[in-house]
Amino acid sequence: MQLDGGQDYYLKPMNCPMHNLIFDARGRSYRELPLRMFEFGTVYRYEKSGVVHGLTRARGFTQDDAHIYCTREQMADELDSLLTFVLELLRDYGLEDFYLELSTKDPEKYVGDDASWEEATDTLRQAAEKQGLELVLDPGGAAFYGPKISVQARDAIGRTWQMSTIQLDFNLPERFDLEYTAADGSRQRPVMIHRALFGSIERFFAVLLEHYAGAFPAWLAPVQAVGIPIADEHVPYLQEVAAKLRAEGIRVEVDASDDRMQKKIRNAQKQKVPFMLLAGDEDISKEAVSFRYRDGSQNNGVPVDEAVAEIVAAVRERRP
Ligand code: ZN
Repeated sequence: MQLDGGQDYYLKPMNCPMHNLIFDARGRSYRELPLRMFEFGTVYRYEKSGVVHGLTRARGFTQDDAHIYCTREQMADELDSLLTFVLELLRDYGLEDFYLELSTKDPEKYVGDDASWEEATDTLRQAAEKQGLELVLDPGGAAFYGPKISVQARDAIGRTWQMSTIQLDFNLPERFDLEYTAADGSRQRPVMIHRALFGSIERFFAVLLEHYAGAFPAWLAPVQAVGIPIADEHVPYLQEVAAKLRAEGIRVEVDASDDRMQKKIRNAQKQKVPFMLLAGDEDISKEAVSFRYRDGSQNNGVPVDEAVAEIVAAVRERRP
């Protein structure tokens, strides 16, 4: 593809080769291993099936892609800590129901020798079993370059999504002739681990949207609180309350539109804003606000400082 200015641009299908070139840019010592490289890498796919589907299957997307170069001896520990990290991260986002899938060699389509594949597959299986989660085999499902473990998460309505993947790779280091200097001065081949926690950011976002049906917990909600005046003259008061929330890092808006109050409440409810803060004369006289929650319940006359503290706590503690 050529853009103005005569420079050539190319679509990038994968990040792995670039990380290999960085690894290979100078001599590496065993002291540098495990060497971990990470990027939010934009990649492009044009799958044979051509199927695209919302944010879950796009032609261009962003991977949270990492490559870890380590010795064979470090492989098991590295996989173990990676899997633990992956699961903690998914749980932070409120996904609780997982199983692991182990994809093994496709006998028709692979590179490298059988012994390496066996070692890699065993190492992955052991790391998976240590997590105590259900382990499902996917025979022949691996990419040509190495076995894979993936985390499959079930969302709120029971569908499963492939989330994180961890792939062991003995083959790319071979093909790129990657080497490090071992403690005894000999030249050795590192093992490469491909790792994506979110998979693609777009897809992960889509899964979260589906999982929460748009009603994000407060810490993830794009707008965490909205001020709704009973009448126009209550707008400045709510703006002061909003300023206090904003000072605590809360994403807050005041609905100062021409809509009537009931309409504003309906709008905020449709947008699934976690906290609605209502204020009228009575609230103002008591330096208070009235909460209205997403489920329609209400808590009237809450002193402003308490209201701020409640919202801040819900966000900071990542309450569901
Ligand atoms: Zn990779």
